[in-house]
Order: sequence, then structure tokens, then C-alpha cells
Amino acid sequence: MVEKLQKIWVDGELVPWDEAKIHLLTHSFHYGLGAFEGIRCYKRADGKSIVFRLREHIDRLFDTCKLVLLQPKFSREQIMRACIDTLKANSLEQGYLRPVIFMGEGAMGIYAPDNPVRAAVIAWNWGAYLGEDALKNGIRAKVSSFARHHINVSLAKAKMMGQYTNSVLAKREAKLAGCDEAILLDTSGYVSEGSGENLFIVKRGKLLTPDLGSSILEGITRDTVITLAREMGLVVEETRIVRDQLWLADEVFFTGTAAEITPVREIDSRVIGEGVPGPVTKKLQARFFDVVRGSDNTHPEWLAEV
Ligand code: PMP
Repeated sequence: MVEKLQKIWVDGELVPWDEAKIHLLTHSFHYGLGAFEGIRCYKRADGKSIVFRLREHIDRLFDTCKLVLLQPKFSREQIMRACIDTLKANSLEQGYLRPVIFMGEGAMGIYAPDNPVRAAVIAWNWGAYLGEDALKNGIRAKVSSFARHHINVSLAKAKMMGQYTNSVLAKREAKLAGCDEAILLDTSGYVSEGSGENLFIVKRGKLLTPDLGSSILEGITRDTVITLAREMGLVVEETRIVRDQLWLADEVFFTGTAAEITPVREIDSRVIGEGVPGPVTKKLQARFFDVVRGSDNTHPEWLAEV
């Protein structure tokens, strides 16, 4: 459950939490055309709060708007400011930010070009997405019977609201089968991503992850991990991956703003590696957490002070 805080930013104003409501005729509520982001704020070892890769998240929010033909009434700078203001208004030293750009009420037809394009930023407390134990000991995943959207059925690079029914269905299926997370293949059968995470495998010391030409979201944590891994002297290959490679991998992990770096210890009843987080995953995880909330200052360009 999201714990109630004080304020939510709605169309340029910080309004009391309980008053941040939308009408049932909100167009995006019915048809799912809307853009959103998920961003983390961390309290670092020096006591300062930072928003991790704020600029890149807001750029992706606007990229999604461009893909779905939504014209926000606010600039990138205004939405970035709104993120910081929302954290401050709620005295949140660390947590999660959810900016949304959506179509408001007016016409109920599919087209509805004159409906207002609305914006909001919500902040809440959010610990480890899949639990502390998942970060430490890894999770069990299941290859989903749901395929990730074909690249021409939806918009693979958009973080678009309606698209997430695919994720919810895959996640529910995985949980009901006793697993923690789903791995979706694309419509050709190649490995795509998790319900809300990108995926990496480690084989003979090398990192492999699906390339950007496949049906995956261009994850900001994915980019962070690729950058850090290369800095650490690891080889990273962006390539097509088949299901067999998952099952035969030495290590597998998910990346995402919410999931951070979550090791996968079992997929479809096959134990991955030794069944515990492997050395490459652990090394990357340690470096990642040192960058976002520790005292590693090698990437100041990723940290926006609150
Ligand atoms: N894939 C999907 C489908 C997602 O929802 C997310 C979370 N935004 C990711 C990957 C990971 O992206 P990021 O690292 O930017 O959070």
C-alpha cells in the first residue's frame, strides 16, 4: 500500500493529497493513451538527497509524448522542477517519483483532439520493489505465455500507460504460478524483458542483453549498468537472446528503476548457475548502489540534488 503523504503536483500546483483526483470521464483512464515515468530519489552517504538520472527520465517522458502525439503544457524544465518540488513538499528524503502526462475529460471518442493534456507528479515511499530478500538472494522467474508487444502493434520505446496491461497479465501469471517475476519473449520468440525490468545474462564472464532494435523499453538502469560494467572492464554485448541461453546462463539479473539490480536464481524450474547471485551480478550491484546512494562520485552528471 502506498502510504499517504501531503501533496501531489497537479497541472502546475501542489494540491493536498486527498484532493488530487481525476474525473471518471478522463480519456486516458478509458483508452490508456498517456505517458508516465518512474524515478528514484536516494539519500546518499553524505546525507544529501539526489534524484537519479532525472534529466534522462524526463527526456524519455517527452519522447513517449512525441511517440503518442501528446503535447504537454509544461516544459521539460518545469516537470523536472515539479519533481523536486513534490519531494520537498512531502519532506521525502528518498522515494519514488511518478510523473504522468495524460488526456483529461471532454470528448469520449477515440480521437478527442481537444481534450486537455494534463500533467501530474506523485511521490511516495518505495523500498525494494521485489523485496530486500530478492536483492540479496535473487528471485524465481517464469517465461510468460504472454509475448511482449510486436514493435508495430504498440510502441516499444514508449513508457505508455495502456501498454502495461501486457505487463500486469504476465506478472499475474508468474505470481499465480508461484514465481516472483515474468520474462516476456517477443512475438518471434526471442527474449525481451521483464514486466517492468530489462534483463541481462552473464555467460563466461560476458554480459549479454537484448539490443535496442528489439521490443524492449530503453531502460535507464540498463544504460547505467552497461556504462558501469564497461568501466569495470566487463564486455557487454547487445544482441538477440533465445530462451535456451537464459536457462544455460551462469547468471541472470533484472534492471529497472524500481527493481534496481535484482538477481534471478531460477527460471522455469532450471537453477541459474549455482542458484545464488553470481559474482558478476554482485559486483555490479555493489557498484550500482555505491553510485546511487553510497559515496562513489564518479558520475555527478547522473545526480540531481533535491
Ligand atoms: N522495461 C519495462 C517494461 C519497464 O516498465 C521498465 C521500468 N521503467 C524497464 C524496462 C526499466 O527501465 P528503467 O531502468 O528506465 O526504469
